[in-house]
Amino acid sequence: MLLDIETAPHRVYVWGLYDQNVAINQIEEPGYTLCWSAKWYKSKKMMFSSTKQDGVKAMIQRIYDLMAEADAIVHYNGNKFDIPTLNQEFMQQKLTPPTPSAQIDLYQTAKRRFRLASNKLDFVAQTLGVGKKLPHKGMELWRGCMAGNASDWNTMERYNKQDVRLLERVYTKLIPWIPSHPNHGNYLNRGDSCPNCGGHKMRSEGLRYTQQRQYRRLHCMNCGAWARGAISEKRTRKDGSIIRPLVPL
Ligand SMILES: [Zn+2]
Repeated sequence: MLLDIETAPHRVYVWGLYDQNVAINQIEEPGYTLCWSAKWYKSKKMMFSSTKQDGVKAMIQRIYDLMAEADAIVHYNGNKFDIPTLNQEFMQQKLTPPTPSAQIDLYQTAKRRFRLASNKLDFVAQTLGVGKKLPHKGMELWRGCMAGNASDWNTMERYNKQDVRLLERVYTKLIPWIPSHPNHGNYLNRGDSCPNCGGHKMRSEGLRYTQQRQYRRLHCMNCGAWARGAISEKRTRKDGSIIRPLVPL
């Protein structure tokens, strides 16, 4: 499941504009989740819920239920933002922790695998040539939604949904680059699937060595990800005796 949320900022009282230290008794209203958008990978249907459309309780319950159906959740910086934000909402709605699933945070992938000028979703999407975020009027849009303005909510919904579409396209491009992608072989129950994309055209390309063992090295002809055999190959001499390389201390 691909997921993105939008949140309202904290409303606080401040005495100045620069370099403020805000105490908790200056918080007028803490930030909260405005809406979320989600879709199942490769499905056409976009799902959306907002405080405006469904109310907080129903909006939070719906994403909680969807998370229970997901094997893996794809997001952008969701490990630090979307998931903890939703957890807080679950806790406030007196729900128990959501069903655990694998997390695929594409922000982590971009940071770890590339050295882009910016790791923002908008920049990464444009670099990959898969589109860009919807432009919006910034803070005014958020103020409008917090005030219940219908036209601003309309924009927010389109913005949120576009982020998920972008997320899906970026995910498709990044599949072979995602470290430790949840293994498709587990879900497909097959021993010949690409761990990253689930494709079955794996070409044997040499060996992968660990300190003591050697494995078949495999290359996915669908997405380009690399994998290795699960079981090490025996290393034998001509007389059939097993070679056991020394391991450095
Ligand atoms: Zn693949």
